[in-house]
Amino acid sequence: MACQDCDLLCRKRPLRVGEKARCARCGALLYARKPNSIERTLTLALSALILFVLANAYPLLDFRFQGQTLEISVISGVWELYAREMWVLAAVVFVVSILAPLLKILALLYVLLPLWLDRQPWRMARVFRWIETLHPWAMTEVYLLGVLVAYVKLSDIATIVPGVALYAFAMLIVAMAATDATLEPETIWECLETQR
Ligand SMILES: [Zn+2]
Repeated sequence: MACQDCDLLCRKRPLRVGEKARCARCGALLYARKPNSIERTLTLALSALILFVLANAYPLLDFRFQGQTLEISVISGVWELYAREMWVLAAVVFVVSILAPLLKILALLYVLLPLWLDRQPWRMARVFRWIETLHPWAMTEVYLLGVLVAYVKLSDIATIVPGVALYAFAMLIVAMAATDATLEPETIWECLETQR
């Protein structure tokens, strides 16, 4: 692998728990093996799944205007764009805020749960490679930012009440960031190789 700071090519070797690999030239951290990485990532991915369900099952906002109440959810935003013939935008919003995060969480659970139980399901290496490809497409934070901008802009003309899903969505972003932080691809690949 190449050092991200100075591009020196370094040979990878397996680490023991708690060890870190540093670049021989500049000392930058190459990879590390934190204790209980699989258990921690698994717990966070499970929390993310629960938050994802809550974020999609409940309304994000209640929009009250001239005596009418409109409930806005993640999927209704996509439908609204679709109904206005903004198909490309509707597809992009659907993929980055619903489909990609859900697939990423499910794929992580598919890989981590069996590893935690010392098993290896079908095509695990392929699924794990797929998670790394999916990573840049799961952009729930962009969606939340859009919701907050709309909230600020519309709060003058209408009463907007945040719903359960908005809090769940915010926590989902934190849970997904934490999952990325605890996930160690090195450890996963090592588990996959030793079990093969
Ligand atoms: Zn370096």
